[in-house]
Amino acid sequence: MAKREEQRTWTSSDETSHLFRCSSKACERNFKAPRLDLSGGNISRQQLTRNFSQLVANNKKPPPFINTRPNVNITSPVRPFRTTNSNNVPLPPFIILIVGRVAKAGAVLLGRNVRKWWANLPPEQKAEYTQRAKSNRKYIGAAFGMLGMGIFVYYDSHIQETPYTNRKRFVAFKPEQFEQLARQEFESLVESFKPLIVPANPRDPAYRRVSRVANNILKSNKDLEQIRNKEWTITVVNDETIQNAFVLPSGNIFVFTGMLDVCETDDELAVILAHEMAHAVLGHAAENASYCHLMDLVMVIPIALLWAILPSDWSSAFAHAVGSGLQGILLSLPYSRAMEMEADEVGLFLAAKACFDIRLAPIFWAKMAYVGTKGGEPQIEWLSTHPNHESRQNRLEEVMSSALTVREDCQCPRLPLLDPKSYLEKYKRKVAETETFDNVAIRLRAV
Ligand SMILES: [Zn+2]
Repeated sequence: MAKREEQRTWTSSDETSHLFRCSSKACERNFKAPRLDLSGGNISRQQLTRNFSQLVANNKKPPPFINTRPNVNITSPVRPFRTTNSNNVPLPPFIILIVGRVAKAGAVLLGRNVRKWWANLPPEQKAEYTQRAKSNRKYIGAAFGMLGMGIFVYYDSHIQETPYTNRKRFVAFKPEQFEQLARQEFESLVESFKPLIVPANPRDPAYRRVSRVANNILKSNKDLEQIRNKEWTITVVNDETIQNAFVLPSGNIFVFTGMLDVCETDDELAVILAHEMAHAVLGHAAENASYCHLMDLVMVIPIALLWAILPSDWSSAFAHAVGSGLQGILLSLPYSRAMEMEADEVGLFLAAKACFDIRLAPIFWAKMAYVGTKGGEPQIEWLSTHPNHESRQNRLEEVMSSALTVREDCQCPRLPLLDPKSYLEKYKRKVAETETFDNVAIRLRAV
């Protein structure tokens, strides 16, 4: 047992084995893929082997299928909601999130009141309090130290690894809690899109296309626990002006018909759907909310100090706004972009296992970049939650050979000899001939 626990820590230059495997017995093995760029992901062969064994064991369970009931009629999940241990009942997510927000607002009020109180003190009292603070500085330092330690312990006790990429991350919520919230959101979204929802009718071309591609990806990845344990649904929304698709943590995929126009081939659609599925599989929604919650907590002391020390409400509010902006640009937005990249990479492997022509993934983003040069919305990456099209294209090209190896090992049909870049050239010619930039994907944002 001790030997089993012995782990070799990998350096950042190592490659890590991804756990993407084929469903077929013919290709049950690990696959190599370059390490993801996200931090904190030291990983051992033993850990990967353990995870891999778990996947093999889970492979015996029945495969998932997309819920084929009408999308507007999903009111009671077939799979019962998993409950947490009764003696370990966590706080509901909205309470956890509210605590962070309330703490930040409290810090503003506290700092502001301290400043006003201090300004109204007579000079002799100020001198007395200053003297007292100096003589008790050890205790004051210890109090701040304990507060910082408390936040660190809270952070450290909620660290977990992402499935398949084994990246360390802070998650304050149980997956079940977030899925429950997502189901409520699903019902509310279905209600709001109701007049536009394409009926779940296999004879409808849009619904048939999306369900065919999505089912293909799900069935080919049924060996992955996070694919198997969700009640996947698809909802096609008939709005050609929106080039978008998204997924809720509970596995509810929404696709707008505008996105179907952008994805000219099923291979491109598979890349988009697999990216969305990867977000759900990796639990990115809970991670993102946890990250925001953590930032709220970490900023409590700096905010209180800022409002207490600066001379006026205006200067405090200005510094607060600048600090929030910098926090977004330097921390939150890069974190969001890193998760998008991770979903791109994992999605590429999901699509590869389903035998799609994943070479079109970087081509798709090259296509989007080309459209962007012809009048699309300008992309300023460092101000965006998503990487720009070129970054996504480059990253996908970097991991392409690993994903193609997975595809090959899944005994997929040979890819056409046609160079996928010719597809891009063809697309450029088509757009140039028809001059229909206004009608192509300009506003592809939240994928
Ligand atoms: Zn995304």
